[in-house]
Amino acid sequence: MNIRGCNLILSLVAVLCLSTCSDQEQAAERPNIIVFLVDDMGWQDTSVPFWNKRTPFNDLYQTPNMERLAAGGMKFTQAYATAVCSPTRVSLMTGMNAAHHRVTNWTLRKDKQPVADDDLLAQPAWNVNGMSPVAGIASTIHATPLPQLLHDAGYFTIHSGKAHLGAIGTPAADPLNLGFDINIAGHAAGAPGSYYGTEAFGNNDPNRSTWAVPGLEKYHGQEIYLSEAVTLEAVDAMQKAVDQNQPFFLYMAHYAVHTPIQGDDRFVQKYINQGMLPVEAKYASMVEGMDKSLGDIMTYLEKKEIDDNTIILFMSDNGGLSAVARGGEKHTHNKPLSSGKGSAHEGGIREPMIVKWPGKVKPNSTTDDYLIIEDFFPSILEMASIKDYQTVQPVDGKSFVPVLTNESRTPYQERPLFWHYPNRWGPKGPGIGSTSTVRQGDWKLIYYHADRSFELFNLTEDIGETKNQANDQPDTLKELASVLTDHLKKVDAQMPTDKATGKLVEYPDEVLE
Ligand code: CA
Repeated sequence: MNIRGCNLILSLVAVLCLSTCSDQEQAAERPNIIVFLVDDMGWQDTSVPFWNKRTPFNDLYQTPNMERLAAGGMKFTQAYATAVCSPTRVSLMTGMNAAHHRVTNWTLRKDKQPVADDDLLAQPAWNVNGMSPVAGIASTIHATPLPQLLHDAGYFTIHSGKAHLGAIGTPAADPLNLGFDINIAGHAAGAPGSYYGTEAFGNNDPNRSTWAVPGLEKYHGQEIYLSEAVTLEAVDAMQKAVDQNQPFFLYMAHYAVHTPIQGDDRFVQKYINQGMLPVEAKYASMVEGMDKSLGDIMTYLEKKEIDDNTIILFMSDNGGLSAVARGGEKHTHNKPLSSGKGSAHEGGIREPMIVKWPGKVKPNSTTDDYLIIEDFFPSILEMASIKDYQTVQPVDGKSFVPVLTNESRTPYQERPLFWHYPNRWGPKGPGIGSTSTVRQGDWKLIYYHADRSFELFNLTEDIGETKNQANDQPDTLKELASVLTDHLKKVDAQMPTDKATGKLVEYPDEVLE
């Protein structure tokens, strides 16, 4: 080989090294991403006001670390999830709208509906087994999970807390099958047997074995609350990633503040002293225990000096549980919103959401742009600079990164958002039932499958959904019914069957013809 040839090879080696080195640098600069998902937390269950004014509830609940997060990030006043657990979680993990992925109700037992049909409607053959990372599992949506894409791109992926993504005995019951490197306490069930370490988180009660929290054996018998245990373990897992010099994705999905309403002894007494009913005080203490977890994680990031390179997204998976009285009294309310968990009204679907992204998102800012839970999927991948990814599922969500960086408002003000719940939840209340729903601009239309009736609300003027304008605004009714029908047809949404006629319930625009 002549000298020129040698030089050429040396140049090639140099180019190769440069490209490798820059890839490594890029990997090192990738932000850590934390999704901090609370279970069943209502829009008002916090000292951070998410409305345009404070309410008495903002003075009742104490969430100093949510205040700390909001001071460093952007608050969303109109962030939506679905009305119950599993549909929200599957949308987050797949980027699909619930009408599309067909996990429209909560999941638990393989091939079984959690709630039987009522007298009027037969529920469709929805995906009762949840999502699946592999093909060929009956009654599941086969999808490429978000953590798998992050893992494949070099992220250390941590699941801590409640999973509730697949039925017992299916692959998605174990987060390790979804691309998580570590699973702390997650399985098929959507509630803990107990929040108390002294009760082994439900593992001591043979009658509650389905709900017994897996793992965490080292805390059994100890005076420790579940929210604290999953946080300590999550911090240990983040430290592993830091030690390996790997960016991490932490899905900190708290079991709190779902039932059973069990007081967090660290905080409960002061709420009792304030004169709250025992069940309200217990609930408020669970909220504050969750908030302490957020604070502990933020303090850990600061101590390790990685807070400037870590994005935190705070969200709840559905509205506060207001329809069911526990201990004889309601433990939460959601007012000024109407109704709560399980409802198509705002109390069931509007969530407290905050995003902190140092250097990108203006601290202490607020946006009224609306978004929905499936938008998290493409947003998180964009935050991680993961492009050109392949998924087996079509992704419905739209990235909200332009809202965070203040580049664009338009797509979020005018595009329609959709909900589809052709199921039975159980408890009664406003907006609760088998429904299809669309939000576009100021307006929201709810179509009730049982009697083919409509509710039309102007949310900007009437946040409490007190005035049904379906009869007063026929043009808006017709337009939104058409937008909703187009979506249901496009994603081949499943309608329930009218038991009286044996026929599928009509699409909303067919009722108006
Ligand atoms: Ca929930």
